[in-house]
Amino acid sequence: MRYDALVIGGGHNGLVAAAYLARAGQRVCVLERSEVIGGAAVSEHPWPGWTVSAASYVCSLLHPQIIADLELTKHGYDAFVKDPTSFNALLDGRSMLLSRDRASNAKEIAQFSARDVAGFEALERDINGHASELFAHLNDDEPRFDSLSPATQRFFLGSAAEFAERYVETPVLQAAIATDGIIGTFAGPRDPGTGYVLAHHYAGRAFGIQGAWGYVRGGMGTISKAAAAAARQFGADIRTKATVAGITTRDGRATGARLDNGDEIEAGIVLSNADPKTTFLKLVPSGDLSDDFRVRVRDWRDHGCVVKVNLALGELPVFAARPVREPGPVHNATLHIAPDVDYIQRAYDDAARGIPSREPFLEMYLQSPNDDTIAPPGKHLLSIFAQYFPYERSDGEWTAEKKAAAADSIVATLARYAPNVPNAIEGRQVFTPPDLEQRFGLPRGHIFHGELLPGQIFERRFAAKTPLPGLYLCGSGTHPGGCVSGIPGWRAARAALRERAVPATSAG
Ligand SMILES: Cc1cc2nc3c(=O)[nH]c(=O)nc-3n(C[C@H](O)[C@H](O)[C@H](O)COP(=O)(O)OP(=O)(O)OC[C@H]3O[C@@H](n4cnc5c(N)ncnc54)[C@H](O)[C@@H]3O)c2cc1C
Repeated sequence: MRYDALVIGGGHNGLVAAAYLARAGQRVCVLERSEVIGGAAVSEHPWPGWTVSAASYVCSLLHPQIIADLELTKHGYDAFVKDPTSFNALLDGRSMLLSRDRASNAKEIAQFSARDVAGFEALERDINGHASELFAHLNDDEPRFDSLSPATQRFFLGSAAEFAERYVETPVLQAAIATDGIIGTFAGPRDPGTGYVLAHHYAGRAFGIQGAWGYVRGGMGTISKAAAAAARQFGADIRTKATVAGITTRDGRATGARLDNGDEIEAGIVLSNADPKTTFLKLVPSGDLSDDFRVRVRDWRDHGCVVKVNLALGELPVFAARPVREPGPVHNATLHIAPDVDYIQRAYDDAARGIPSREPFLEMYLQSPNDDTIAPPGKHLLSIFAQYFPYERSDGEWTAEKKAAAADSIVATLARYAPNVPNAIEGRQVFTPPDLEQRFGLPRGHIFHGELLPGQIFERRFAAKTPLPGLYLCGSGTHPGGCVSGIPGWRAARAALRERAVPATSAG
């Protein structure tokens, strides 16, 4: 069988690329190594009656034009905004709940500092300004860092902590802001470049509101399923349990893929949704790329540092600082264990020396109070995203014991703030960085296919059009990088179609 286009990997970006190519009349086949599609945008059922967004869990960057073009809503995509936005508990009995409501924020913040009420409003205004500038460039075919205004460039090159500290003085409020600058990133909030990561997390407009995040009914896998349904409707074939062992080439041009069972599939062009290192160092024959390019790929920074723990709970977490037992505003917010910026920086400093954070930073979500597709009645799913747990440890490889110890330390950290959690646990799913690599194919467990720090963003991220003619990269290793946006897939499909590298008709 010969196709116009082969897509290696059925992550959400590969599926979006396939849908756009098929919509343009190309005969497309997606080859996914796992038995389920979606990559890191997946819903699983580890326990009967539960639906778990095993990896990614909230949505913001999914591009509104992709939702419209592929009619994702018709194919099952249904999402709602998360509000309040964040809840930060402290051990001294105080806490801060931030939302979209100005008056409520003023009341919450004034408990700590009257001055910060205006400071926070100014901060939000300015960050949304930078983020909307970024939004306008997320989908650029030829992204250029110097196309940004000087003020936005300075912000991206600075640190998340210095940005927060410029506007507000309350430590927990500074931390609440800085957390978005270190998500998935092997860097501390005081490190230069975390300003970009912060802006990236404010750049989405999936809900038509700059920077708003929300939940997808049925979990993040619903996005992948909707993209797959669109691709199939336009005629694409999607094959699971189809691991690509190598990209085939002839006369310096990609000609298809060879599966691990030895089958070969020919195509006019090949798109890879795998990360840059897998694509260029494992799948492309070494002689088809220059040494310089291969060195660039080798040096790509992708040190994973996240442990994900999904807890099936018999009851809601009850925070001592704001003890609410019934579903309420607190449970709708992103829950943070990050009392101040120094706490997060210390957590990173441990990992920089190769050891797991002794006091990890936690970001947590409860979708179940607002979505009955997630947990059985009365039960709740707590999704915990914890940093920093380095892929490469100074005390040797990750083992089952080290994995259990990491999960235990995460639960123990949370229990200091919400003491009822340990006894409420009915199920526990844990992914260490090596698990994320093995289970989702994420390189060294890096959730974005490589750091989103300056040096690896805009024109310094990998281009959709690769140095190997006929091969395109369509995953998060390209602009605008990681998160569930669909944009890398859409850009790659456009690049492929623009080059007219594809035969006009299917060879059948
Ligand atoms: C724990 C965690 C939490 C996250 N939280 C969020 C969040 O809340 N919100 C958000 O927006 N983003 C989040 N992210 C990031 C986001 O999930 C990813 O950036 C995004 O899903 C990557 O999509 P992708 O399509 O580019 O690649 P992937 O999802 O990595 O898909 C690549 C696909 O290629 C397949 N593949 C690889 N090699 C081969 C091969 N040789 N043959 C066949 N198939 C192959 C893989 O199996 C995989 O399905 C999170 C990620 C993780 C891991």
